[in-house]
Amino acid sequence: MPKVVVLPGDGIGVEIVPQAIRVLQAVLKDAPLKIEFEEHLVGGAAIDALGKALPEATLAACQEADAVFLGAVGGPKWDSLPAPERPETAALLGLRKTLGLYANIRPVRMLPALVDASTLKKEVVEHVDMVVLRELTGGLYFGDKGRKENPPSAYDVMAYTEEEVERIVRLGFETARMRHKKLCSVDKANVIETSRFWREVTNRVAGDYPDVELTHMYVDNAAMQLVRYPEQFDVIVTENMFGDILTDLASMLSGSIGMMASASLNGKKGLYEPAHGSAPDIAGKNLANPLATILSGAMMLRYTFGLEAEALRIEQAVTTVLEKGYRTGDLAKPGDKVLGTKEMSDAVIKSLELFPRV
Ligand code: NAD
Repeated sequence: MPKVVVLPGDGIGVEIVPQAIRVLQAVLKDAPLKIEFEEHLVGGAAIDALGKALPEATLAACQEADAVFLGAVGGPKWDSLPAPERPETAALLGLRKTLGLYANIRPVRMLPALVDASTLKKEVVEHVDMVVLRELTGGLYFGDKGRKENPPSAYDVMAYTEEEVERIVRLGFETARMRHKKLCSVDKANVIETSRFWREVTNRVAGDYPDVELTHMYVDNAAMQLVRYPEQFDVIVTENMFGDILTDLASMLSGSIGMMASASLNGKKGLYEPAHGSAPDIAGKNLANPLATILSGAMMLRYTFGLEAEALRIEQAVTTVLEKGYRTGDLAKPGDKVLGTKEMSDAVIKSLELFPRV
């Protein structure tokens, strides 16, 4: 039976992940495929129990599984640990590198019911519908880094191989082909050599996709364009650090970071997680928005298990709940019907009944 390793992690991770699993189990009841879920420790919780953010047993289970479903890791309790031992570095970067998850996919779509939840004007965001592809295993975050004495200094190396650029850019073209056939490659080719190389490789790969319109944009301009006129974008592809920053920015276009799902892929194998962190400020209070995690579950059914109908049922159920006016605190305006983490998940499960599998 196909297996998913479930890693709730820390903070709100332990609240939102079990709720998303309930939604997945509800939708899988009628699915043509049975999936086994197996829970393991990761992050600060694993440090406390086993002394390591990514214990061997967890890593081995993730390597064997078809997919990994993660909540979030980290929190103030572990912030003072040396960088290589911290949950964010040891667990997240360790998982991405070992599983070879080179492509992070984040859909950013404005749901009509949430237009007013965005901090930007309705006319700017109402038709936003884009996918941001971020390279995830290269660049500055994985390059050589260190400190020097006399005078004291620090360095991080940004490097990309041709293969690393080509595979993510190809995925960008393939994704654009399935959508509106527009790909925007974001770099800083006026200053950075890695970016000039990125652009050369992208232009060469573009020869295989004459039906896709390719544009290049400097990252500083891309940040500005994302808030000025975000509807111009269909698919964005960019390197690791630029993508890290731009995806958080883009998350606000659709109302809240609590809505943003993500998939990190290496072929069909994937790690699925909400784009937000462990939110220690609201953890343990049943306040977290579970929808980004629930929507990450839908992405897992689609990308790893090919269960498109089930993925759509979840997405339709989420849309319906929001259209009915239900909100978690992060999305709510005065007078809205505010639900807790569990109650919002109950509402999604109930809404699934409106969309029987066809
Ligand atoms: P965060 O995303 O955890 O929180 C930022 C803000 O958004 C907070 O005010 C939080 O309450 C709110 N928020 C986040 N998710 C929400 C949700 N589902 N519902 C409602 N509100 C939500 O980012 P941060 O505060 O910078 O980081 C907190 C911890 O999480 C740190 O230890 C950080 O290193 C870690 N982190 C982990 C990941 C991950 O596991 N992938 C990603 C980012 C940050």
